[in-house]
Amino acid sequence: MPSKINILPEFLMKRIAAGEVIERPASVAKELLENSLDAVGTSVSLLIKGGGISQIQVIDNGEGMTEEDALICCERHATSKLQKPEDLEAIHTLGFRGEALASISSVSRMTITTSTGDEEGTQVIMDSGRVHEVLKLAANRGTTVTVKDLFSNVPARRKFLKSQNTELRHIVSLFRRIALSHPGIDFSLYIDDEKTMDLRGGSLEDRIRDLLTEKRASSLIRVEKKSSAISMVGFVSRPGEALRSRRDQFFFLNNRYIVNRSMVHGVLSAYGSRLGRDEYPIFLIYLEMAPKHFDVNVHPTKIEVRFIDEKYVHDMVKGSVQEALRKPMAVPELQLVTGRKQKKSFSGHPYRNEGDYGQLTLEAQRPEAGENVIEYRQFPDKEVPSLWQLHNRYILSQIKSGLTIIDQHVAHERILYERALESKRGNAGLSQQLLFPQTIEFTPDDFLILTEIFPYLEKIGFGLKEFGRNTLVIEAVPVEIKTGRERELLLEIIEEYKLGHNENTDIFEEVATAFACKSAIKSGDRMTFQEMAFLIDRLFATKEPYFCPHGRPIVVNLTLEEIDRRFGR
Ligand code: ADP
Ligand code: MG
Repeated sequence: MPSKINILPEFLMKRIAAGEVIERPASVAKELLENSLDAVGTSVSLLIKGGGISQIQVIDNGEGMTEEDALICCERHATSKLQKPEDLEAIHTLGFRGEALASISSVSRMTITTSTGDEEGTQVIMDSGRVHEVLKLAANRGTTVTVKDLFSNVPARRKFLKSQNTELRHIVSLFRRIALSHPGIDFSLYIDDEKTMDLRGGSLEDRIRDLLTEKRASSLIRVEKKSSAISMVGFVSRPGEALRSRRDQFFFLNNRYIVNRSMVHGVLSAYGSRLGRDEYPIFLIYLEMAPKHFDVNVHPTKIEVRFIDEKYVHDMVKGSVQEALRKPMAVPELQLVTGRKQKKSFSGHPYRNEGDYGQLTLEAQRPEAGENVIEYRQFPDKEVPSLWQLHNRYILSQIKSGLTIIDQHVAHERILYERALESKRGNAGLSQQLLFPQTIEFTPDDFLILTEIFPYLEKIGFGLKEFGRNTLVIEAVPVEIKTGRERELLLEIIEEYKLGHNENTDIFEEVATAFACKSAIKSGDRMTFQEMAFLIDRLFATKEPYFCPHGRPIVVNLTLEEIDRRFGR
């Protein structure tokens, strides 16, 4: 009886393995780009045709390969990156398996043209995993790998590919990740023979500026933290400038893009209530740490990383983002948008009209700590802050970098909110007794709510007494609020509390938010100079002078540069 078990022919085995590594054109692009980066050159180009299905080509000016190496690099488990047993660690850290080229070549027509620069170059032409032809030719130092007709010999897989446009989108986002992880390298991207991106190597800031739109990049603030095990730098968007999608959220670990859920959680919880529903902050966070502190899922296409101490990394990310968001740098800057020129190469293509890739203002123009200080005008006998009220709504003042604009209502709201929270910690709010106590009758359900928040209102400084069924007497109010409309105010607080309250929030915080929102100076209230000066003093004495309890900005700056630019100076 013939044996039922057959050894699979080598080429079939490769093809099966390929399914594991190579999901779609973007996975080919990823492997080839990573190989080029490993070969340490200064420039890498990616050329795509037909969504990567017809052709993917990667050209680098790295160290190249000898003829011998070029022939064995497509064998399974051929890698120059694992020499000693200790290097096995690299599988856990970087995912080297010496498998990518073998897999790709088995499901495509692949050509490698390479030269070390010292001798004649080599061209290896492969077809479905077999060497078809080897040529000697003149070639510059570096390597060009061309992959054509991906999956044409694996019809089942080809069927699962999405439209060319979808595949292209995956490639473009992969390209952005790779470019962001190696800011020092020149990168270019050609789509169907047209140069779509052309990135000069430079600083991380330069690279981010080139890859995000001007508006997005200018909304970023720097985060930084170092401990003995981890060093972290990055950028996050100012609150209020979040996006509707997650596309500009990146983590890199030792210069590789990674995915890690607890880090995402760390960033989002640092924003807390500053993020609205369906709002996603931009973040680009770069970690450096020794391989012993993390594990990479060894599945070649996965970029998921597990940290040995997840909580430590989570808390570090959260803490440093929180810190950054509290700084004056987090003050949004008003941009007077003008029709600035766009780079020609970005026009006329679906991936090119995403926005303005022109020159922009990042770090350099953020106000330094301490710069957001109201400047004083010299008068013969005294110094007076320069303050103006605009339309009974905004307070304008000169600061070092230009002009600061303060929203009077939210500024007061922040002051009252922090004052209310203070009272929770035992510092009961100061009260003023009313000359004529006021009686309010409530509907039974509102009254029920009131008894629930009664103790909190008293802590804040309200003097309240029950007076028969569903009736309340207001005897005193917090000193901070204007008297005369206590009744309306209390009703408004109840309404606001009803609106904002949900199971998961702290009742005291809810009451404090409602109180602050309803008791604050309204937009439209005229303020005297003294009131404005007092408000500003107290605002900058709060813990978070730049954002109101709902997450809206309190202060917006307009730089002199921006004004000068507007005037064509
Ligand atoms: P791995 O990257 O895991 O080593 P690959 O199959 O991706 O496995 O590549 C196999 C080997 O081919 C690499 O270890 C490297 O020596 C060589 N190689 C691949 N691409 C390049 C390149 N662009 N420049 C120089 N050498 C390369
Ligand atoms: Mg590789």
